[in-house]
Amino acid sequence: MSEFKQSEVWFITGSQHLYGPETLKQVDIDSETIVNGLNASGKMSVNLVFKPVVKTPDEILDICVQASSNKNCIGIITWMHTFSPAKMWIAGLKALSKPYMHLHTQFNRDLPWSEIDMDYMNLHQSAHGGREYGFINARMRKNRKVVVGHWQDEKVQDQVAIWCRTTIGWADSQGLKVARFGDNMREVAVTEGDKVEAQIKFGWQVSAFGVGDFVKYVEKVTDDEIDELYSEYENIYNVADNCKPGTEYHENVRVQAKYEIAMKRFMKDGNFKAFTTNFENLTGLDQLPGLASQRLMAAGYGFGAEGDWKQAALLRILKTMSAGMTGGSSFMEDYTYHFDPANEAVLGAHMLEICPSIAAKKPRLEVHPLGIGGKEAPARLVFESATGDAMNVTLIDMGNHFRIIVNTLDVIEPLEKMPKLPVASAFWKTHPNLADGAAAWIYAGGTHHSAFTLALTPEYIETLAEYADVEYIVIDKNTKIPEFKKELRWNDIYYMLANGLK
Ligand code: MN
Repeated sequence: MSEFKQSEVWFITGSQHLYGPETLKQVDIDSETIVNGLNASGKMSVNLVFKPVVKTPDEILDICVQASSNKNCIGIITWMHTFSPAKMWIAGLKALSKPYMHLHTQFNRDLPWSEIDMDYMNLHQSAHGGREYGFINARMRKNRKVVVGHWQDEKVQDQVAIWCRTTIGWADSQGLKVARFGDNMREVAVTEGDKVEAQIKFGWQVSAFGVGDFVKYVEKVTDDEIDELYSEYENIYNVADNCKPGTEYHENVRVQAKYEIAMKRFMKDGNFKAFTTNFENLTGLDQLPGLASQRLMAAGYGFGAEGDWKQAALLRILKTMSAGMTGGSSFMEDYTYHFDPANEAVLGAHMLEICPSIAAKKPRLEVHPLGIGGKEAPARLVFESATGDAMNVTLIDMGNHFRIIVNTLDVIEPLEKMPKLPVASAFWKTHPNLADGAAAWIYAGGTHHSAFTLALTPEYIETLAEYADVEYIVIDKNTKIPEFKKELRWNDIYYMLANGLK
């Protein structure tokens, strides 16, 4: 995402004056070497910025206030090269409003067996310095990421890189504007929720618009603009014969092109990054935006159908976190089961709106009647998802707290061809298996909708949930239903106590 090109993560090293200027000079040099090494790893999606070692409560407070107010700084990495008495960190950590990581690393990987002396012992103190710092973080009940290991180890660098991407997602979440065209699908429960609480926890600004507000944009789109966009469709999709110029459904495709252009303008004018539609609120539109919604998702916008603003915002954040990575992310719905005991799996799809970023092959552009809602047959992209490790992520409102649920999946190729399926789809094996995975999801109250991603892993979402201070539940290969039910009950009590008076 280009808006995060300027983002920085500040690398802040703690120490104290006790060690004397020479040692502290070395701390600075070592610290800068680590920053340069991490930047040179090629794994970081943001620029890590070295900051001179902090040695007093005032210096710590000052750098934390600076980090909190600096627009480019999206988070900080803290490291204790030496012992940094942690009372010094209280004021700074209280003032810090950005996410942070405690990188529990050490400058040298190995003990210098034949050389080790007291000077070495006075400089390389991460093992105990990091614990002193850890205590004050725990004592202050701070949600932070702890990464342990040598900074040149690829696994450690990968964890730092994941944290940086999560932090970009968190930065995007702050002030994320979601446009809702129409309201919630009537009588649907799970797509509802407390938008005020979502703004407090995640920073989302969710605003509803009458479909007429969008129709005004649609009416302004010119034929030339539609021609141009249609030729782009011809270039990147296999357009069905009955959708080409001069044929039965060509006009239906042009209607979606018009929606796409109008929608992009609407989003840009209001600086919206995610949106919802609702097939029950289409007054003034001839079709449900299908192809248009798919194209906006592919351009990086979050989307939720039937007014599902929580999934729309979540999908946008997943897209921001995974920008430039292999594997796409899409709005998704558990649609239909394959209950063959030898091969239990789920067919995920939606009425129309699956993002082509997950497509295995060049999508087909087709038009088919919707069979619901009484509108004209909408154009849509039809494809099957790429295969591999994936997950569904959802966010629900439990009344007294938000719950984020992750279910890891193996996306596989469909067992047979589905020549009559008129929508995009993904076919997956649920972890730990369909019976327990679906039961766990249902016990947890998970949505039929989710944000599906082939790019990210649960670690991203765990950290995101911690920064929002909301419940995080993962259903994966290790999930056992009796334990899972207990976890839900215990979490309910925790959040009841933690959020009781907030
Ligand atoms: Mn739906």
